[in-house]
Amino acid sequence: MNYEKGEDGEAVSETVNVVEIFGKNVFNETVMRDYLPKGVFKKLKKTIEDGAELDPSIADVVAHAMKDWAIDRGATHYTHWFQPLTGVTAEKHDSFISAPDAEGKVIMEFSGKELIKGEPDASSFPSGGLRATFEARGYTVWDCTSPAFLREDTLGVTLCIPTAFCSYTGEALDQKTPLLRSMQAIDKQSLRILRLFGNTTAKRVVPSVGPEQEYFLVDRAKYLQRKDLIYAGRTLFGAMPPKGQELEDHYFGAIRERIGAYMKEVNQELWKLGVTSKTQHNEAAPAQHELAPIYDQVNLAVDHNQMVMETLKKVAGRHGLTCLLHEKPFAGVNGSGKHNNWSLISDDGINLLNPGETPHENIQFLLVLGCIMKAVDNYADLLRESASDAGNDHRLGANEAPPAIISIFVGEQLEDVIDQLCCTGEATHSKSGGKLMTGIATLPDLDKDATDRNRTSPFAFTGNKFEFRMVGSSDSVAPPNVVLNTIVAEAFKEAADELETAEDFDAAVHDMIKELLAAHRRIIFNGNGYSDGWVKEAETRGLPNIRSMVDAIPALVTEKAVKLYETFGVFTRAELISRAEVEYDAYGKAVNIEARTMIDMAGKQIIPAVIRYTTQLAQSIGAIRTACPDGMMDVSVQTELLAETSALLSDMKRALASLEDLTAECGSIEDACTRAHGYHDKVVPAMEALRAPADRLEMIVDKELWPFPSYGDLIFEV
Ligand code: ADP
Ligand code: MG
Repeated sequence: MNYEKGEDGEAVSETVNVVEIFGKNVFNETVMRDYLPKGVFKKLKKTIEDGAELDPSIADVVAHAMKDWAIDRGATHYTHWFQPLTGVTAEKHDSFISAPDAEGKVIMEFSGKELIKGEPDASSFPSGGLRATFEARGYTVWDCTSPAFLREDTLGVTLCIPTAFCSYTGEALDQKTPLLRSMQAIDKQSLRILRLFGNTTAKRVVPSVGPEQEYFLVDRAKYLQRKDLIYAGRTLFGAMPPKGQELEDHYFGAIRERIGAYMKEVNQELWKLGVTSKTQHNEAAPAQHELAPIYDQVNLAVDHNQMVMETLKKVAGRHGLTCLLHEKPFAGVNGSGKHNNWSLISDDGINLLNPGETPHENIQFLLVLGCIMKAVDNYADLLRESASDAGNDHRLGANEAPPAIISIFVGEQLEDVIDQLCCTGEATHSKSGGKLMTGIATLPDLDKDATDRNRTSPFAFTGNKFEFRMVGSSDSVAPPNVVLNTIVAEAFKEAADELETAEDFDAAVHDMIKELLAAHRRIIFNGNGYSDGWVKEAETRGLPNIRSMVDAIPALVTEKAVKLYETFGVFTRAELISRAEVEYDAYGKAVNIEARTMIDMAGKQIIPAVIRYTTQLAQSIGAIRTACPDGMMDVSVQTELLAETSALLSDMKRALASLEDLTAECGSIEDACTRAHGYHDKVVPAMEALRAPADRLEMIVDKELWPFPSYGDLIFEV
């Protein structure tokens, strides 16, 4: 590392050699080559790259090499790193030390068995009834396709081994297991499509994913004064400051020093972990930012996104900041999402979603497009469900984009090709983008893309990938990709089943494309997805508009979904039922925590502050009247304020009592689904009813007396 010197000799910035640090903490191919015998390296590589079955006999050698490398780098512990259905990752650390020998010395040990299999006590992780608490066994199983990595922090250096997490009977208890299963499904069916078009070289097709992560940063000292941020990750009270995001001056604005230092450290940490942190910018709302990596295989992309979220939070603490990953930390300004860019790329370098310059001639692409339209149209409910969490209920279909209705944006060029095929049965041309004319002699004329962008579509084609924009910022990107992989696998399978046996392939594929496009044209919408008109239009098209998480969850367990997932070996019926149960339960818990936090803040902080204020007002009115009994001094303003404040205070008290009752009532409901509906239908509106007078009071009461930092303090003074 070098330090650039400022004029007065002070270090002004620390420069790093990115190439040198990139992947430094990853057990990657270079390290494996160094530490593993050639034969073992080859076998492991075959599993990682070709999906071949792992030869368990190499586990001991790999474990040994991993341990040597980790210890060379200062590691003392290892952990199986997994992704249970809690939304965050889990880990249990073990040190490498053996029991002391007769002389009291220890050695550092790590066996193949310890690498391959872990057995955390699984009874405390959500299982949705898949496992009774007395059947506590759960296994973590090494996923060698995602490289082990070293985590450096105050605990020292820990070797983290990405693992899948299953129950004693083999049911998935995590995000990774179904994802890996869905990757097998889409791989197999995509290869069938490629073979139909004469490709004999591809051995594997893997979904590629680039998740764009949005987040907020607030000052940690202020964060610690807000119980809502601490317990719920979002503000539950808060009047809008005089300025919001209306000037649009934050989006892509210059990055301030404090944030810059933070982003720089985040990047360095991520690069060391082999995460290709690439893009960073300020987002639409004040204090909101975004980080995007370069896309990668979906399994790595999912793991890396977990590391990104972890790193964003960890590094924030070192800069006196707190990172909020919640989907809607502040009402009234934009929330945060995670755009999931998805494409299908073969090991011989073909992106099945690349239309080329002249899509009308690219029959393979048109078939793939038709299949994706069919998949999204048939399973819009599953896609919508995959982006549901309690936080995202405040974005999807609420005052902010994207809408809760699933539709596909394909852009002008593709829509034109689809129209040609649907209307005349023949596509003869593709529109091109033409030149960008700026009217300035010194600026070069550029070739334009054939299609403009559409920021309002939940599922947008962006050149050579689809961007699913509904995913919540705090959520794992595994579920949406499980859905995408599996639903597209089914559409590919149905196409391949028919086309493989067709007598005249060219005619059959032509007919199939026309049929697919015509049958599923209703899912295409290129207009403004935020408009009320679209909601009506979508209804006439028969597209589902699923407004909330509790309404979305049933999609998981429809007969259609069970059949789909069982056919492709992604989920069993029992696993789906358990996931629905876990989600209902998670929703209820999230709202329960929010409601109880509001009760706490209202009762112990806001109401006492307002009482102090009204008391002061009343005392000052009394004092003035005493000092000036002839009524010469006007106290009408104070009196009015006192009346207004007192009225709002009693509104608050009433709303608080009602929220307390409803929260207790819903909390006592046994069944997770009924309980979730109770929280959604009764507690959420009661929370809004409590918030309204409190936010008005915040605008009246002396700022000195208000018990916690305001929106303005939080989002403009970072
Ligand atoms: P855009 O501005 O079109 O959304 P970006 O370059 O900002 O594109 O990319 C957004 C994310 O999409 C990045 O993570 C990027 O690596 C990823 N991405 C780009 N191409 C692909 C692809 N073919 N498949 C999946 N993700 C991709
Ligand atoms: Mg994008």
